[in-house]
Amino acid sequence: MFRAFLIKYAEIGLKGNNRYIFENALRDRIAGVLNPLGTYNVRKEQGRVFVECPENYDYEETVEALQRVFGISSICPVVVIDDSDWDALTKGVGDYVDTMYPDKNITFKVMAKRADKNYPLTSPEICREMGAYLLKRFPELKVDVHQPELRLTVEVRTRVYVYSTDIPGPGGMPVGTNGKAMLLLSGGIDSPVAGYMIAKRGVSMAAVYFHAPPYTSERAKQKVVDLAKGISKYTGRMKLFVVNFTDIQLYIYDKCPHNELTIIMRRYMMRIAEKLAEEENCLGLVTGESIGQVASQTMHSLASTNEVCSMPVYRPLVAFDKKDIVDIAKNIDTYETSILPYEDCCTIFVAKHPVTKPNLKTIRNSERRLEEGIDDMVDMALKTVEIINID
Ligand code: ATP
Ligand code: MG
Repeated sequence: MFRAFLIKYAEIGLKGNNRYIFENALRDRIAGVLNPLGTYNVRKEQGRVFVECPENYDYEETVEALQRVFGISSICPVVVIDDSDWDALTKGVGDYVDTMYPDKNITFKVMAKRADKNYPLTSPEICREMGAYLLKRFPELKVDVHQPELRLTVEVRTRVYVYSTDIPGPGGMPVGTNGKAMLLLSGGIDSPVAGYMIAKRGVSMAAVYFHAPPYTSERAKQKVVDLAKGISKYTGRMKLFVVNFTDIQLYIYDKCPHNELTIIMRRYMMRIAEKLAEEENCLGLVTGESIGQVASQTMHSLASTNEVCSMPVYRPLVAFDKKDIVDIAKNIDTYETSILPYEDCCTIFVAKHPVTKPNLKTIRNSERRLEEGIDDMVDMALKTVEIINID
C-alpha cells in the first residue's frame, strides 16, 4: 500500500545556513543506496526528504537500505493523497486507517502539519475535523491525546501525506559532511566498528590494511576487503590501501628486542597511515583501540603509538568493553567476517611476553637500530601500495 517514504532527520536540522549541504548529502546518500534496487525518485521538500518508489519495489529491502543511511532519524512509510479537497482527504485518511488497523478498538490522535499555508483549514482545525470524521466512520475508535496507540500524522503540502509508523533510522549525520579520515582496518572485530562509528558522525572514510605476505595469506587480505565492503554499505565508496609490510616487520624483528616488537610495529603502521592520510586529504586517523584490551593498548602503549603522528587519532572505542563492541559488530553485520580464523600480521611476530608499559625513551632507542634501512623501506611500502576501490 505504500509507494513512498518520508524521511526525517534530526541533527542536520540544526545546521543553520549550511543546512542545504547536509540535506543534499543526505539526499545523495539515499539515492546512492537505493540506486542498485531500482528507479526511485528522491527529493528534498521543506525540511524533509521524500522517496518515491517504483512499481513492484521490495518494501523490506528498501527500508533496510534506508536504515544504513546516516543522518536519518526515522523512516515513515506514507500514503500520498493527490487531491487535498476535504472530502477526498477525509476519505483517503479513513481508508488508510481502515486498511492499516483492521481492529478499531484502539486509541488514536490526529496530528496535522500544514506546509501549504493557503489550505482553507488551519492545523488545529484539520486535527479536530479529521478526528470527528474518523470517530463517526469508526465508532469503536477512542481519542487519547497523551498515549494514543495510533498516532496519525496528516501533512498537507501540495499533496497530502498520511503516516502513522516511524521506523528508526541509524541517526548520525550524512557521510561526507564532516571531512574524511583514514581508518586502520585490520581483520579484527574492533576496527570495522571504529570506522562505522566515526563515519556515523558524517566523516567519509578511506582505509589502510597492513599486509605481510607470505606470513599473512590472500584469504586474510580478502577478509579485510570484505570488511571494507561491509563498512561501505554505510559510507558509500571507499578506497582501501593495502601496504606490504613484510620487509618492515622482518627488519624490526631482526633489529629490535622482541618484547617491543608489537609496539614498534604499531608505530610504523601509524607513521605510514599518516602519510597516506595526508595524500588523501584526510583530517585524522581512526583505530579500533580500547584501553587495556591487549598489551599494545595499555595507556603506556597508546602513548607510545600516539607520539609518532601529529594528525589527530580518533579512537571511538577507547572506553568500550569488548562485549559492547561485539554487540555493535553484530548489529552492523561485520562480526561474522571478523571472526573468520585467518592470521593477522600482528599475531605472527608476536612475542610471548610483550612489554605492557613501554618506556618512550627505550622504544625510541630501539628504533635507532633501524636507522640504516627503515626510511627506504617505508618509502618502498608507500610506493608499492595497492589501491582497491570498494564500491
Ligand atoms: P582489531 O579487532 O581492530 O584488529 P585488535 O583488538 O586486534 O583490534 P590490535 O591488533 O592491537 O587490536 O590493533 C589495534 C588497532 O590497530 C586495530 O583496531 C586497527 O585499527 C589497527 N591495526 C592493527 N593491525 C592492523 C593491520 N594489519 N592493518 C591495519 N590496521 C591494523
Ligand atoms: Mg587485530
